[in-house]
Amino acid sequence: MDLAQRVKNSIRDIPDYPKKGIIFKDITTLLNDGELFSEVIDYFAKKYENVDFVCGIESRGFIFGAAIAAKIKKGFVPLRKKGKLPYTTIAEKYALEYGFDEIEIHIDAFKDIKNPKVLLVDDLIATGGTAEAAIKLIQKIGGDVVAAAFLIELTFLDGADKIRELGVDVDSLVKY
Ligand code: IMP
Repeated sequence: MDLAQRVKNSIRDIPDYPKKGIIFKDITTLLNDGELFSEVIDYFAKKYENVDFVCGIESRGFIFGAAIAAKIKKGFVPLRKKGKLPYTTIAEKYALEYGFDEIEIHIDAFKDIKNPKVLLVDDLIATGGTAEAAIKLIQKIGGDVVAAAFLIELTFLDGADKIRELGVDVDSLVKY
């Protein structure tokens, strides 16, 4: 069975979480399978071994992003919810179903590397709002986002189109 199908089989659907009508894709069951988790990391690591940094979105993007970064021996940069990063940051707001949220990045995350090649990682893309905000932040501090990689893409929400409109490739391992 191919990797995408095995990943699909390992993800658990949680109906009505975090609220009624939403079917939450629970990836903890995949993380729990050491062989498969490691294969997923290797899959992305091989494709993006030439980037300069891996950026991960809080919080499940940290799990995959940090593992990929360590595997290819490149720096990991966390994009965090507002107020969590200790040094000087820039922030970007993005819309949620109700209201908005905000993520931040350290202004010196890419040190003094000019125009570094960056891989953005999150577990799942839904509307694309979170990834769009992340890409804007990375670009504002000089990063060149070569791709946005996701374990899961919810295609019916058209988030990938939003990201492609920013000129960034979308690479999702499994699609629903
Ligand atoms: P978007 O901004 O609408 O694309 O939502 C993507 C963000 O919401 C990502 O950071 C995901 O971790 C999170 N998310 C939304 N739905 C799910 C889900 O079903 N499972 C896991 N994470 C989800």
